[in-house]
Amino acid sequence: MRDLVSIHKIGFRLLRKIHQVDSLIIPLHLLNVCFSLVRVYAGLFLTAGMIDDLLAGDYAKAAGLAIALLFTELSAGTVIHLIKRKTKGYDHKIWLIFYVWLREKAFSLDYETMERQEVSEKILFSERTADMHGSLGVMLYHYCNILEALLNVLLSFFLVIGLCLARPQKAAGPLGALALPALSLILFAAVLAGMALCSFGVFRRFASKQMEIFTSHTGVENKLSYLLGQIYGNSRTGKIIRIYDMAQMLLENTGREQKQSISYFERMCDVGRQEGDANKATSSVFMVCSYLLVAVKTVTGAITVGAFTRYAGAMNQFGNACFTIIESHGRLREICTYMQEFLAFLDTENLHAKGSIPVEKRMDGEYELAFEHVSFHYPGSDIMVLKDVNCKLNIKGKLAVVGRNGAGKTTFIKLLCRLYEPTQGRITLNGVDIRKYDEEEYRSLFGVVFQDFKLFAFPLWENVTAGFPRCGERIWQALRQADADQMVEKMEKKLDTWLYKDYEDGVEISGGEAQKLALARALYKDAPVVILDEPTAALDPRAEAEIYARFNEMVEGRTSIYISHRMSSCRFCDDILVFEDGRIAQRGSHEELAAAKGSYAGMWESQAKYYA
Ligand code: ADP
Repeated sequence: MRDLVSIHKIGFRLLRKIHQVDSLIIPLHLLNVCFSLVRVYAGLFLTAGMIDDLLAGDYAKAAGLAIALLFTELSAGTVIHLIKRKTKGYDHKIWLIFYVWLREKAFSLDYETMERQEVSEKILFSERTADMHGSLGVMLYHYCNILEALLNVLLSFFLVIGLCLARPQKAAGPLGALALPALSLILFAAVLAGMALCSFGVFRRFASKQMEIFTSHTGVENKLSYLLGQIYGNSRTGKIIRIYDMAQMLLENTGREQKQSISYFERMCDVGRQEGDANKATSSVFMVCSYLLVAVKTVTGAITVGAFTRYAGAMNQFGNACFTIIESHGRLREICTYMQEFLAFLDTENLHAKGSIPVEKRMDGEYELAFEHVSFHYPGSDIMVLKDVNCKLNIKGKLAVVGRNGAGKTTFIKLLCRLYEPTQGRITLNGVDIRKYDEEEYRSLFGVVFQDFKLFAFPLWENVTAGFPRCGERIWQALRQADADQMVEKMEKKLDTWLYKDYEDGVEISGGEAQKLALARALYKDAPVVILDEPTAALDPRAEAEIYARFNEMVEGRTSIYISHRMSSCRFCDDILVFEDGRIAQRGSHEELAAAKGSYAGMWESQAKYYA
């Protein structure tokens, strides 16, 4: 019973969510249920009356009932048709909102929460189960089925009781005894109880089997969707696959997973088929017993021939409705069990508070950022990646951050952008802990190009504006500063050119060109702090020199942070932080650091010989 309550708690919560998205969806489905029932029962009563009137020779009354039947059929049929047409669009809407909710929630979570494995697993699990077993639309369909079946059971139950209570006219012999109300009621109740017991037994057995197979299979489907979606389905992996001749290895891997997946589906189908067969057998026994009862009542004169059709129909409705309840409830139980993970994902709390203080809007761009004894380790690891970092960033200064791979430079930037929070210590903006500021407002201060920057298969202008209003003049200015204007000029559709060929016939651009567009995106944001993490790694020497030449113009009036492995680029910056094993080992200007005996001088000398 507790199981039943928790299943429907989940179901009703999801129904409420659907209702919040569109308040017409559920009422229209309910209307459909009502009209379907009107159609069935009007048919049963009017047909039975018609047959009796015909047998009694009252043709006028029979004709009247036939017209009434035709009218009911036509009008109820038309309404149902219209509702179906309307709800067809809704089915797609409901299907889509499930995926939209998943993503909306994912975006509302902070970066650190989203990086947790259990959170990404919940998303994968929700999508996979929805794809395989249906999601909100299928759930709504089964709820409507159950409601229709419950009403059907209720209506047909009164008819069935009426049938049982009908007294035989010729009470002779064993048939007459069977047709007696008391015995009919007992027999009917016994058949019904037997059917309910069998059906629940069947359902319980097969539902647990299905769940067992499903949960034992999660890993295989995740691997398959990675192989098929992200490797085969991604044109950008094509190069590597060809160069390293990986096709055979990938096909073998996929073949292995496919084999397991197919055997899984075969087992699932077997279970489904066995369940269907068991239900059909139970249903057949019930139907045979029901028809026997109706036949006995007719033969013994307890009911008329016309009533025979009504009662036979009612028995049919009753039996089918009972099975629909059991079957739909089974499917509902299945979906709601899977949907639990989806709701758990929607309920996922952010690890960190989003803060509420508004960030002061300053025309002078005087935002002072400082790290105060900041130490940090990534979630799930206890290795300190940053250790007691202390530094104040000069307002509108040009800061270079250098150090060997893994020294903690990118982590320093991620913390500054509030993608993670310090494990110890604090970062401040104008003296206030950044955690206290409204997260979105705080992030609006930064224009960042990460090493693993991403562009999207959108028009070029949308990649540059990244959600900010489109202003052609400013887009061109950002492109010019990022040395990307000439490249865009050459494109036939200029700013309206689509990137990549995922959806439209777009252009494929080189790594260097992509990096320039990412740089233009950061500049278009016109944020007071610009952070460039290896912004020239994919550029050719000429383009790199071009960017350096424009660097002052690009970051003028802003605080800029420049991470690079190329020591030559640090000379643009008035201040250099040298990271070593998560600590700031040195700080100063290029001249100061090059003259000092430290890791900066070592790195500078080891690279300088290549430039000599
Ligand atoms: P750098 O930018 O100086 O090359 P990073 O800041 O990227 O260095 O990385 C510093 C250390 O943190 C490295 O040892 C790296 O493996 C580790 N690291 C980076 N990202 C993560 C992460 N998401 N989870 C766990 N460890 C990470």
